[in-house]
Amino acid sequence: MKIETKLLNGNELANKIRKEIIIDIKEKILKNKKNLPNLGIILMGDNFSSIRYVNNKIKECKNIGIRTTLIKISKNSTEKVLLKEIEKMNKNPLIDGFIVQLPLGKHINQNKVILSIDPKKDVDGFHPENFGKMTLGMNSFYPATALGILTLLERNKIEISGKYTVVIGRSIIVGKPISILMSRKNLIGNSTVTIAHSKTINIKYYTKKADIIIVSVGIKNFLTGTMIKKGSIIIDVGINNISNNKIVGDVDFKSVYGIASYLSPVPGGVGPMTRVMLLKNTLKAALNNR
Ligand code: NAP
Repeated sequence: MKIETKLLNGNELANKIRKEIIIDIKEKILKNKKNLPNLGIILMGDNFSSIRYVNNKIKECKNIGIRTTLIKISKNSTEKVLLKEIEKMNKNPLIDGFIVQLPLGKHINQNKVILSIDPKKDVDGFHPENFGKMTLGMNSFYPATALGILTLLERNKIEISGKYTVVIGRSIIVGKPISILMSRKNLIGNSTVTIAHSKTINIKYYTKKADIIIVSVGIKNFLTGTMIKKGSIIIDVGINNISNNKIVGDVDFKSVYGIASYLSPVPGGVGPMTRVMLLKNTLKAALNNR
């Protein structure tokens, strides 16, 4: 028998959180006559999706009162040039936090870039100092998508303690951080986590037992209804372009609908939560800096 699947509305929750950030900016920054938060963005090259993401981030910031400083460098710039721009952002007291838009050119060592960002300004949360602190359950910047997923679960009052979670995908931006956050001992966490990836044999064996499944692989219709148990909670992180204006996630929406108890849709689920968490991290950096 089919059950009622509730959709986890990321747009609605992200709007709510945006309003909370606006209030925080007014109460904690403007009332104290301090400068508005300022997010730095380094954009390398002319990748169509990167430009679109950056423009959206700038627009989102503007809408809630966060200033932005965009530095563009050509796709052929050397690693040295990029590292110099990062150093300038690190030293600029007017920048609270900044991001280097990924992906970078093949000639750039991404780890070197991450390591060169001042952890106090690392609002993406990829620097080992922040990642390590997150792993140890300490306060730090958490990667936006992982924080967005956790917040989506928490604000919808979905209990994760004691539940069995399967995370599919082990990227540093989604899979790894969310598996750490789901299993941490303090605050929200205490879930028993399995991480699956492209070398996992028989993923269905794990997903069939899972109370919560978080999918971040980048393959359309990857998770189907036959792979899940009744009443499970499904978080779809994937973004797959199927035509110019249409995206779908990694979950075969139709086949899991009626089996899952909760499902985050694409679009309108994890995506807006990711975007708003960058704003939240920027506010946090601004409050830390002043
Ligand atoms: P990624 O770096 O693209 O890597 C994909 C992951 O999926 C890898 O860990 C890979 O395993 C695993 N994988 C690939 N094929 C698999 C298979 N057949 N079975 C099991 N695992 C498989 O990951 P990502 O950066 O997390 O991105 C994944 C998707 O999420 C993309 O569509 C991306 O656009 C989307 N995304 C969305 C948001 C959002 O805000 N909604 C944020 C970030 C990413 P190996 O490690 O073994 O290669």
